[in-house]
Amino acid sequence: MDAEGSGLRRALIERRVSRRAFLRFCSAMAAALALPPSFAPRIAQALTSAQRVPVIWLEGQDCAGNTEGFLRASHPTVAEIVLDVLSVDYHETIMAPAGAAAEKSRADTIGAFPGGYIAVVEGSIPIAEDGVYCAVGGRSFRSIVEEVCGQALATIAVGTCAFDGGLPGANGGPTGAAGVTAIVPNATVINLPGCPMNVQNLTATIVHYLTFGSFPATDSTGRPYFAYGQLLHDQCERRAHFDAGEYVLAWGDAGHRAGWCLYKMGCKGPETFANCPTVRFNDRASWPVKAGHGCVGCTMPRFWDQMSPFYRRLSNPPGFATDVTADQVGLAFLGVVTGLTAVHGAASYVRARQTRGGGDGPTGPDGAEAMAVVPDDAAGEEATSITAGPPEPGGPMGPPRMDGSSPGLGGSSAGATGSGGEVS
Ligand code: SF4
Repeated sequence: MDAEGSGLRRALIERRVSRRAFLRFCSAMAAALALPPSFAPRIAQALTSAQRVPVIWLEGQDCAGNTEGFLRASHPTVAEIVLDVLSVDYHETIMAPAGAAAEKSRADTIGAFPGGYIAVVEGSIPIAEDGVYCAVGGRSFRSIVEEVCGQALATIAVGTCAFDGGLPGANGGPTGAAGVTAIVPNATVINLPGCPMNVQNLTATIVHYLTFGSFPATDSTGRPYFAYGQLLHDQCERRAHFDAGEYVLAWGDAGHRAGWCLYKMGCKGPETFANCPTVRFNDRASWPVKAGHGCVGCTMPRFWDQMSPFYRRLSNPPGFATDVTADQVGLAFLGVVTGLTAVHGAASYVRARQTRGGGDGPTGPDGAEAMAVVPDDAAGEEATSITAGPPEPGGPMGPPRMDGSSPGLGGSSAGATGSGGEVS
C-alpha cells in the first residue's frame, strides 16, 4: 500500500456526491455486512481516511462478465467511488499498456508491494495439457496465478469460474478448468461466486477490509457469510406464493403473469445460498426471479452439473430450518451420505458373505462397491429421517452440494408439501 491516502474525500467532491449520500452508502454497507447501524460512522471514517490498495486483476478462461459488473456505471455512484480507492495497476481489459509493458506493470506491482496488494481473479484456470489452453505473454495462466496470488495480501475470486471452474470445468470440458483455491490452496482466498458475481458483494468485501483491516468471515468454501449465509428461497419476494401453493405451471400462464412461485419451473432457490433477492443487479433494479426466471443456483459448487436440468423442479430433499448455514446443511448432508454409504457397505458385506458361503469380508469388487455412490432413491428414503433442524413449515429446504454429490435433481415426483397443498 502506498502512503498517499485514498483521495476518497476529493473524489466525492469531484463527483458531486453529497455527504448525506455517502453516509447513506455507509449505512447500506453496514446492513449488507450484517452489522448494526451504529457501525456506519466507523465505516465512513475508515473509508474517508483509507489508503489506496493496489490491485492486480487477472482474467483467465472467462467471459469478462465480472469485469462488466465492476465497470458498470450508468452514473457515478458512491460504490464506484469507493472502488476508486483501489489502485487497479493491472487489468488486461481496461489498462492502457499492452504486451511487454503490461507484463512489466504486473511485475512492478508485485515487486513494489510484496504481500500488500489484492489479487482479483476472474475466470477459471486450465490445468490440462500443462495449462496450454490459456496463456498470457507466453506463460500459462496457472503459473501467473501461482505467482500473483501466492504473494498477495489476499485473493478475491470473482464469479463462478474462478470459484470452482464454472462452465469450462463442467462435465465434458477438455481444459481441466479449476478454481483459484485449487491452484493456490495455501493462499487467503475470498470466493464471490455467481454468474456474474454481484458487484455490491465485492464492494462490501473491500469496505470490510478497509474498515476492520480483515476480510469477512467465510464458510468452508470461502464464501462470505454476509452474502452467502442465507438461503435465497428465504429472501425471495415470491416466497409467499410458495407457501400458499401458488405456482407457475407454464411460461406465460396466469400464475407467471401474476408473479407466482417458479418452483415447478425448476427454480433452485430452495437449494441456493446467495443474497440476490436483497442486493439485486443493475442498480438494484431486478434479479432473475423478479424478472420471471427461476434461480439456476449459480453461486453453488459445480452448479452446471449439480443444478441441471435447470427447468426441471427439485426432487424432495430433506427439510432444513431457515436459520441453518451453508456449512451446517453441507455437513448434515455429508453425514447422510456417509451414513448411507456405511449402510450400503454393510449390506454389500452381508451379500458377499452369503454369496461365498461366509468368507472373511468384502474384497475386490464388493469392497469397492461399499465405497460407491449411494443410489438416489436410497438416499431419498433415508434422508427424510435425518435433518439439521425442524422442517421448515411450508416446504422443502434442499441441501446444497457442499460435497459435490447430488441428491438427485430432476425428477422424482415425490413432491414437496407447501402449506397450500401437495406439490407434484
Ligand atoms: Fe422464490 Fe424460487 Fe423459492 Fe419460489 S422456489 S419462493 S421463486 S426462490
